[in-house]
Amino acid sequence: MPPLAQDMATTQETMAQFERFVIGNYRRFPVCLVRGEGSEIWDAEGNRYLDFFPGWGCNLLGHCPPRIVEAVREQLGLLIHVPNTWYMAPQGELAQALSERSFGGQCFFCNSGAEANEAAIKLARVHGHERGRFKIITMEGGFHGRTYAALTATAQPKYHAGFEPMVPGFTYVPYDDLAAVERAIDEHTAAVMVEPIQGEGGVRMPSPGYLTGLRRICDEHGVLLILDEVQTGLGRTGTWFAYEHEGATPDILTCAKALAGGVAAGVMMARPAVARVFKPGMHASTFGGNPIACRAALAAIETIEADGLLERAGAIGARFRGHFERIKTQRPELVRDIRIQGVMIGLELTRDATFVVDGCLARGLLVNATHGSVVRLLPALTIRDDQIDHGCSILAEVIQSASLPD
Ligand SMILES: *Cc1c(COP(=O)(O)O)cnc(C)c1O
Repeated sequence: MPPLAQDMATTQETMAQFERFVIGNYRRFPVCLVRGEGSEIWDAEGNRYLDFFPGWGCNLLGHCPPRIVEAVREQLGLLIHVPNTWYMAPQGELAQALSERSFGGQCFFCNSGAEANEAAIKLARVHGHERGRFKIITMEGGFHGRTYAALTATAQPKYHAGFEPMVPGFTYVPYDDLAAVERAIDEHTAAVMVEPIQGEGGVRMPSPGYLTGLRRICDEHGVLLILDEVQTGLGRTGTWFAYEHEGATPDILTCAKALAGGVAAGVMMARPAVARVFKPGMHASTFGGNPIACRAALAAIETIEADGLLERAGAIGARFRGHFERIKTQRPELVRDIRIQGVMIGLELTRDATFVVDGCLARGLLVNATHGSVVRLLPALTIRDDQIDHGCSILAEVIQSASLPD
């Protein structure tokens, strides 16, 4: 397909425009992306890239997945937006689809992960209000978003710096430490909030039994368990939600990134007995649950089921693992750990991983580095084996060109 419209701005032109008119709160690569298809994406000059990190985890089905494009196009001609003062069929259908694929909860829709977590925190506080329970326990190294309560829940000082004072009532404990949670709970604790796998925190996976342990502790103390599945949810780990691997059911679950195949959408699901404390007027989102996002999410679910993509997640993860094991065998001094669950992939190096991102970009491969030394990949469930092999050969070349750790 021809990547370029004749009148499209060059990367240089767009960069100059950003310099003047867009706030500089992001570090951006000097590349302007214009079109994508599956795991490939093109820039304004027509260069093609293989994308191992499509849409920062939002494009779980790759760029422009056909069923989603079609569903959104159709919905655009019917109704773009109506407020939540009316009923709309796509929102009801999506709520049922999500509920039936998880723990029978009820849904509140919004537009992002942070918003979903704000809703979860507010719901947990309202739920605990009459019993004086307001404290939220979260995990060090976690990431829950950038709005104030979600940011406060994010127990990483670097994200708080300059924004203090934070929201009161949050307590931080180490990740993967059940005893620490037990010690931190008191009669004012409303909820424990945790990612089943820490994404931004370096694709960190807790020990087996951690989630079921949290479930037990929460039950013993009458505390809610909130799972932040903004990154792990909707099939990334090979099950609809990551908690299914342990069978530890949450009281509240949040999901966003991949929810609607790349269209902005977020959801908070809660057990009906918890959800019912939200009364009309207590919480809202103007765009939440709009027909476009809901049709896109329904098309995403349909694609995953029709194409057997939950099963495919394991095979993709295994193929990446094979490549990484070979890199580790060849250069054991450079690789500290390989952490893979489905298409949530972390390769921890013994040194800062920024050189991998730059080296891969120069060779036409998009990857991410997080938490300093972790190469993070969130490839699409639709990626082909030959694309995995090609990208991994680039990764291997870049990693193996590294100098020894200083
Ligand atoms: C990305 C992310 C968020 C924040 O989502 P936004 O849509 O950027 O607000 C929250 N929690 C987790 C686990 C995430 O990965």
